[in-house]
Amino acid sequence: MTLDTSIEFLKGIGPERAKFIRSVLGLNTVEDFLTFYPLRYIDKSKIHAIGDLREDQEAEIQLKGKISDVQEIGYGAGQKRLTAKFRDDSGTLDLVWFRYSKWMKEQLPLNREIFIFGKINAFNGILSMAHPEIEIDERKALSGSLSPIYPGSEKLSKRGLNNKFFQTVLMEITKNLPSLMEENLPHSLTKKLKLINRIHAFYHIHFPKDFGHYEHANRRIKFEEAYFFQLGYALKKQHHKSSVLGNPFQKIGDDFKNFYNNCIPFELTNAQKRVLKEIRTDMKKPIQMNRLLQGDVGSGKTMVALLAMLIAKDNGFQSCIMAPTEILAQQHFAGISELLENTNVTVKLLTGSTKTANRKTIHEELLSGELSILIGTHAVLEDIVQFKNLGLAIIDEQHRFGVAQRAKLWAKNRIPPHILVMTATPIPRTLAMSFYSDLDVSVIDELPIGRKPIITAHRREKDRLSVFRFAKDEIEKGRQIYFVYPLIEESETLDYKNLMENFVHITQFFDDKTPIMLHGRMKPDEKGAAMKFFASGKAEIMVATTVIEVGVNVPNASVMIIESAERFGLSQLHQLRGRVGRGGEQSYCILMSSDKLSKESRTRLKTMTKTNDGFKISEVDMELRGPGDILGTQQSGVIDFKKLSLVTDGDILKVAKKAVEFLLKQDPKLEAPENLALRTYYVKQYKGKNKWSRIS
Ligand code: ADP
Ligand code: MG
Repeated sequence: MTLDTSIEFLKGIGPERAKFIRSVLGLNTVEDFLTFYPLRYIDKSKIHAIGDLREDQEAEIQLKGKISDVQEIGYGAGQKRLTAKFRDDSGTLDLVWFRYSKWMKEQLPLNREIFIFGKINAFNGILSMAHPEIEIDERKALSGSLSPIYPGSEKLSKRGLNNKFFQTVLMEITKNLPSLMEENLPHSLTKKLKLINRIHAFYHIHFPKDFGHYEHANRRIKFEEAYFFQLGYALKKQHHKSSVLGNPFQKIGDDFKNFYNNCIPFELTNAQKRVLKEIRTDMKKPIQMNRLLQGDVGSGKTMVALLAMLIAKDNGFQSCIMAPTEILAQQHFAGISELLENTNVTVKLLTGSTKTANRKTIHEELLSGELSILIGTHAVLEDIVQFKNLGLAIIDEQHRFGVAQRAKLWAKNRIPPHILVMTATPIPRTLAMSFYSDLDVSVIDELPIGRKPIITAHRREKDRLSVFRFAKDEIEKGRQIYFVYPLIEESETLDYKNLMENFVHITQFFDDKTPIMLHGRMKPDEKGAAMKFFASGKAEIMVATTVIEVGVNVPNASVMIIESAERFGLSQLHQLRGRVGRGGEQSYCILMSSDKLSKESRTRLKTMTKTNDGFKISEVDMELRGPGDILGTQQSGVIDFKKLSLVTDGDILKVAKKAVEFLLKQDPKLEAPENLALRTYYVKQYKGKNKWSRIS
């Protein structure tokens, strides 16, 4: 037997069953079985008393008592079953078998102390156990070790592939562990981190002596997963840095200096300065930059992006910013053009709705080099959009773009442009350490000074009048407000507030004010016009759907009212809230919800009222939704860990990351004899499996 042996050759499997297991569980080899980890473990050393059982007793349990009153009831095939009573000192329980043989019936040990094991069912308050495992031997029953429970299904059990089957197969495999595998981590590392040996780990993950052994096995296996994952990315990064050329931007020239000294209407925060320095240091090198810029909503990522583009310009290169929506691109364009007003840096906007003539001019100016900065949507990616020399490509809200789209940016220059990707909301620490670990990360961990934290409140229907009055008062003070709805129109299936109906109510209530509408069914230029109208202050109220979720920047708006807030996800709520609190005024976010809330909705709304910290919110969001959902289905496959959890194992990831950094510093090519086992394992296991090309 080796790890690669097909399971069909294992005792008790054979080709038929192997085929079935393959199709249901996707397990092919001995190794697949070894990493088919138990869902949980049952402590058989414990004996429960019938009198203490509850209807909602989870997990399987063990009881000690006597079987009596065996009876066959029902007639005909499929109707017949066998029942019995099971008694201990504290009570009686019904036993039932739906499938049984005459032989089994005769063999039932009656009226003597035995052990039974199984799951409790409750029906009309009567407790029962179906198909109990029976053990006569006390020593075996109370073996003192934990019994693994594997992820099974009815489909499998019907074919005899029940938990006992998996236990037997894994018992057989784990007996052979010493000849199947070797340690794959250097001794110095396992010693330093007090990790148990690999063979012990795989034994005890299936058959732990006790919870202590389980914990050690679990930690070792998780660490291994994290470590080799990190190693993969680190090697990729190392390779990238030694082989992918980039244009070195060595100069800081007049465009940057002029802008920096004369055109920035505020003092940069220390975090912005630090991050800019990190970017500048990267771009100075003749190696392509691949950097992720993280920062909370409103932390001023756009300014950093613009300054980086001016460095490109000073070095004779063009740059572009690509945003996921037309509104966001327009917003960037408006903001950046205004900032560049008193400079001679040229900037243009290219989106799906750019008119043909204008589009043609842009294409020409990009080719001739006349245009320095291009801002746009996916339209930027089209093959016809060619630059004279694209030196820096910035992707805003990068998670909304797919792999192929990002790859297209690379190809826009002979020497690939430096890449800066920005996130709209902070991403959980563990995702930054895994999914994004082939990027260098810069974090703006500070908001501009003078920002007052947004006050967030949760209100219900009965509070509506006071909420509206409050909004009116704010408008009287000269502020602007947003209403956000989850639906445009009334829906037959969803009982949430909708924009169209409420636009009328709002118009009536705020009688002398001007509300304006913004939603996804409007044409791009209508949307642009509505945005402009609101930004200019001509409308006091913006009634919108989540099209305003990202990027929209109107500093005078100070109240965000989110209707049917229970309908929105956490990062969405945080993004929406980020539309206010952008100026010097105290801002408010009011989350309106119905009275009936699910537990998850309540957690979301509570998190929002408790904190403004996007990093914290992202952690809660991941706990609620899981990492796959946060990244979007398109990308979640990249981080399919078997044991490691991105929700709870941040510490392990961090230790693994450090360990890998240390390793590659000492032995970048993995040539030291002590690292031979590690290298061999890595090459066999991971090479070619990591989906390297995803980010940039
Ligand atoms: P985000 O990081 O969410 O993209 P923006 O770049 O849109 O944030 O910036 C939010 C607002 O803060 C903008 O109005 C911007 O002009 C302003 N801003 C950026 N940096 C500073 C700063 N250092 N001091 C004051 N205001 C700033
Ligand atoms: Mg932004």
